[in-house]
Amino acid sequence: MAVLSRLIWRRAASARSFCTKSDRQLLSSPLSSALPANDSTGKGRNVQWVFLGCPGVGKGTYAARLSKLLGVPHIATGDLVRHELSSSGPLSSQLAEIVNQGRLISDEIIIDLLSKRLEEAQAKGQTGFILDGFPRTVRQAEILEDVTDIDLVINLKLREEALIAKCLGRRTCSECGGNYNVACIDIKGEDGNPRMYMPPLPPPPQCESKLITRSDDNEEVVKERLRVYNEQSRPVEDFYRLRGRLLEFDLPGGIPESWTKLLHVLNLDDHEHKRTAAA
Ligand SMILES: [Zn+2]
Repeated sequence: MAVLSRLIWRRAASARSFCTKSDRQLLSSPLSSALPANDSTGKGRNVQWVFLGCPGVGKGTYAARLSKLLGVPHIATGDLVRHELSSSGPLSSQLAEIVNQGRLISDEIIIDLLSKRLEEAQAKGQTGFILDGFPRTVRQAEILEDVTDIDLVINLKLREEALIAKCLGRRTCSECGGNYNVACIDIKGEDGNPRMYMPPLPPPPQCESKLITRSDDNEEVVKERLRVYNEQSRPVEDFYRLRGRLLEFDLPGGIPESWTKLLHVLNLDDHEHKRTAAA
């Protein structure tokens, strides 16, 4: 409860100035209320978005790019857990035990880590966020809804055959930790689906001989991961769909193509141009 009251306090303190419910009712699509208020004047807050998408779809990449573009923290729960594990924070030993035993980390712990991260952001004067990997369950979505407004939920989707090929092509450099992908995905267009081409992301020459594959990136495990994800995430998608907050986004191909299309769908093409011009 302490965690929740902290979050509720946070909401009261910072989250209400952007757009009232009655303003929202006048707006027709989730997107029209989801874009940042005119933050250059210091009024209001920035976006509060969530990224959904199965493992391997690349949501971390797009969430990171968007958070940079919009100037909001990119909060990935996986990073929060890793960060806590590597620290001497109050939760680290409890977390280590859970992870070592292969148990699932409880909603309470995830929410505690998340609220801590949001408080840190707030202390630095940051508003808004892009959440990546949270909420994962309807219960988490309900808790989140109780404490703050989510403007938009972007559900990233990729055709399953492309997704599996992408997961199987993942490689990490054992020396520098760089992430690469050796898969060259070229799926012929059929049944109304356009051709999909995703070029590999090859390592630089110095990493080539040091690439390793994660042991759980094999076809059986990847398929099982997708099955579990789909089963768990459908109710979360429905939760936001019912509230008119879900934006379905089919990735058309590799990063350059997908990024351009995503910005367009989010009405952010101008945002990027202005930013590039100002840089
Ligand atoms: Zn390397």
